[in-house]
Amino acid sequence: MSPNVTITLSVSSLLLAKMNAFYNSFRVANPNEYVLWQAKVEDTLITAYKMKKEVSKVVFQGKQAEYEASLWKEGALGVATPSVQAPENGLYKNLYPQIGSDEVGTGDYFGPICVAAGYVTRESLPRLMELGVTDSKKMSDAHILEIGPILLKEFPYAQLCLDNPTYNKLRRQGLNMNEVKAKMHNAALLKLTRKFPEAHVYMDQFAESSLYYHYLQNEKEVVSGITFKTKGETAFPSVALGSVLARYSFLKHMDALEKKIGEKIPLGAGASVDEFASRYYRQHGIEALDAISKANFGNRKKVLGEE
Ligand code: MN
Repeated sequence: MSPNVTITLSVSSLLLAKMNAFYNSFRVANPNEYVLWQAKVEDTLITAYKMKKEVSKVVFQGKQAEYEASLWKEGALGVATPSVQAPENGLYKNLYPQIGSDEVGTGDYFGPICVAAGYVTRESLPRLMELGVTDSKKMSDAHILEIGPILLKEFPYAQLCLDNPTYNKLRRQGLNMNEVKAKMHNAALLKLTRKFPEAHVYMDQFAESSLYYHYLQNEKEVVSGITFKTKGETAFPSVALGSVLARYSFLKHMDALEKKIGEKIPLGAGASVDEFASRYYRQHGIEALDAISKANFGNRKKVLGEE
C-alpha cells in the first residue's frame, strides 16, 4: 500500500472546474453521495467533495499526493488538514467517541454472516470521510476491497464471521436469524467496548431493542445502553465503518470459499443463485451444498424440488 500522504485543498468553483477537466480521463466511480468526482492517477486518489456555497474541498491521497496537489496549490484558497464533517442527522445526534456495529450476509444464500464493530473519534472522523466510507450497500465491492486493509490498519475494530456449518447447526438447535445476529453483535461490541468503555454505542437496528435484549437473556455479559436505528449506517459514521468492515470480511470469506471449490459463487438469493445451487447439488450432493450455504433459505427447498 502507498503511504498515507493526505493533502486537502480548498478551492473556488472556478478552480474546481479546471481540476475536473484536467482529471476527467482519470475518473473512477465513487457512489458516496458527498463525493462530486474521484480520480485515480497511478496510486494517488483525488477526491472532490460536495460542499455548501462556493468553496469545495479536494483531497489528494497517496504517493503522488504532494506532486498532484502542488499543481493546484497556487490557485487554491487554502491548504489544510482534512476538515470534512459527517452529516448530522437531525433526530440522532452523533456523540463521540463512538462504536457502531452492522452485519452482512443475512440476505445471501451462500457464504457466512459477518458482523463488525468499528471505533470512531471526532479526530478520526475526517479520515473516515476521506476514504469515502458510507453505507456499504452504496459502495462498490472494488472500493471496499481497496480501502478495507487501510481501515483495518487505522481504525480499532472487532469482527467475527459465522461459517455455514456452524450457522446451520445453530439453526437446527432452534435459534432464529435474529438471535444469531444479536449474539454476534453482542460479541463484537463486548470486545470493542472493553477497550473503549467511554464510547457511545450505536447499532443498525434489525429488531426492537426489547427483543434484542431478550435474545441475549442467557448471555453472561451484555453490552447495554445501545442506540438502535434502522439504516444506522447513514446516521452514524461508526455504523458505516462497521458495515464496510463486515462487507470486506464477507468478501474475503467468499473469496476463500471460491478458491476452495474452484468456482465463482453468486451472491444474494435470486435466480442466478438457484441456478448455481441446483447444478452444485447435482454435481456434489446436499452435504456439499449445505457446507457453503444457509440451509434455512427457500433456495434449498427449490433445489430439492420441495416447492
Ligand atoms: Mn444492517
